[in-house]
Amino acid sequence: MALTVEQECPQCGAPIRIEETDHLLSCPYCNVKSFLFAPDYYRLILPDKAPDKDIIYAPYIRFKGNVYLCQGQTIGHRVVDITHLGAPVKGLPVSLGLRPQAMEMKFVGPHTAGSFLKCSLRLADILAKVGKHTSRSASGQLFHRAYIGETLSIIYLPLFVQDRKVFDAITKNPIVKLSQDQDIFGSAIRSNPPRGLTFMATLCPQCGWNLDGERDSVVLTCSNCSTAWEVSEGKFVRVGLVLVQGRGENTVYLPFWKIEACAKGVEINSFADFVRVTKQPRVVQGNWENQNMCFWSPAFKIRPKIFLRLSGQLTISQKDFEMKETIPKQGLYPVTMPQSEAAQSMKLTLAGSAITEREIFPLLPMVSFTEKNSTLVYLPFTDTGHEMIQQHMRISINKKTLEFGRYL
Ligand SMILES: [Zn+2]
Ligand SMILES: [Zn+2]
Repeated sequence: MALTVEQECPQCGAPIRIEETDHLLSCPYCNVKSFLFAPDYYRLILPDKAPDKDIIYAPYIRFKGNVYLCQGQTIGHRVVDITHLGAPVKGLPVSLGLRPQAMEMKFVGPHTAGSFLKCSLRLADILAKVGKHTSRSASGQLFHRAYIGETLSIIYLPLFVQDRKVFDAITKNPIVKLSQDQDIFGSAIRSNPPRGLTFMATLCPQCGWNLDGERDSVVLTCSNCSTAWEVSEGKFVRVGLVLVQGRGENTVYLPFWKIEACAKGVEINSFADFVRVTKQPRVVQGNWENQNMCFWSPAFKIRPKIFLRLSGQLTISQKDFEMKETIPKQGLYPVTMPQSEAAQSMKLTLAGSAITEREIFPLLPMVSFTEKNSTLVYLPFTDTGHEMIQQHMRISINKKTLEFGRYL
């Protein structure tokens, strides 16, 4: 379930309700759009109900996403949605349970009063916990685990201290009784509050036109100069963009990442190598020896099973689409999966494409990829009402599945 956050419009101050997967804030009052940028993850607070107290915020790391496992002889996947206390303070609840879903949160901002406990749990620690959680229920040796398209955030639980007791500042119930002279927070308090959000004006860095996107877009496009932009370190950075022209009125363009890469561990320097390594039932054509290997992946969030199927179908076909560098003003489906996440699917696609899993899986821990180039490719699909059908390859995606993917 997505979490909701209340945020003021940076332009007119109107309160806007957004979801944790949102990146583009569109104000319904003043129509100004801003792209939300946080240096690492969103930092959210559960609003306290103790306005007269000095609040201390305890950090919880939240992981929500899909974990893929190459285990035994199959590729499995799990949806994981957990929160875990990030500060080494005894007596505090280890998890927030369902509370974040039951309350509207706020972003940490320059006006957030109170002190913050340091978050000492690292991302790797939480991933290890998620990993343990997921591999236990499957059988066979674990060869590879990947986290793709996850949402990570830090949620702060407000506390206050009174009469040598630590209170939950939402329920106002005591949680921990402090012994004489015990200072459970002391050194755990951050000297400076965590950094909040940056609001970026959504103007095309190349031509100044308004960039297009939807609330959950991670790449914005300019229909004036046909460019695409993602945000890195608080700046818009250009993304390579092409489109395969579709036919018919009901054409919708779905975005995919095409990542040119070679692999070590299993030698893949060309498409011919890939066909041989994965033992595709196809005769290697002479020109495939010089054809760079490209891994494809959806650039939108979708259920794991469909994500793997689409990545596999497009990668194995290695279809030579006729591409152009202009995009239409309408009909572009939003990019909700960043390139950096999609790139982590290359190993899964390799594993999933192999005809003999038994031979490939044990090699996976040694396999690494070198990315040479990546491009955002919009492929034309026909919207039949229930399904989206790719116009060249007849690949179909159920529209409900596509819609549901936006809430993953
Ligand atoms: Zn506004
Ligand atoms: Zn432009």
